[in-house]
Amino acid sequence: MAKEYWVYVNTSMKKAQLHTSKCSACKFGRVLKSDAAFSNDWWEGPFDSREKGWEGAQKAATQVGGAPSKCMMCRP
Ligand SMILES: [Zn+2]
Repeated sequence: MAKEYWVYVNTSMKKAQLHTSKCSACKFGRVLKSDAAFSNDWWEGPFDSREKGWEGAQKAATQVGGAPSKCMMCRP
């Protein structure tokens, strides 16, 4: 199974964090994705490479006025 990359975005925390599809935090986020329209956080993805994922994280970080980061759990 190919690894996918997801970016967790949170506007109130000014956060854009890169995760892999194997991350337990990521799976949790994907379950909540349907509620994105009512929330100040959401997931962007999937990205099919680490480079594209990181680009997505940088773009999202600019949107929320923060800095992109990487998950400490799944180490993308
Ligand atoms: Zn993660």
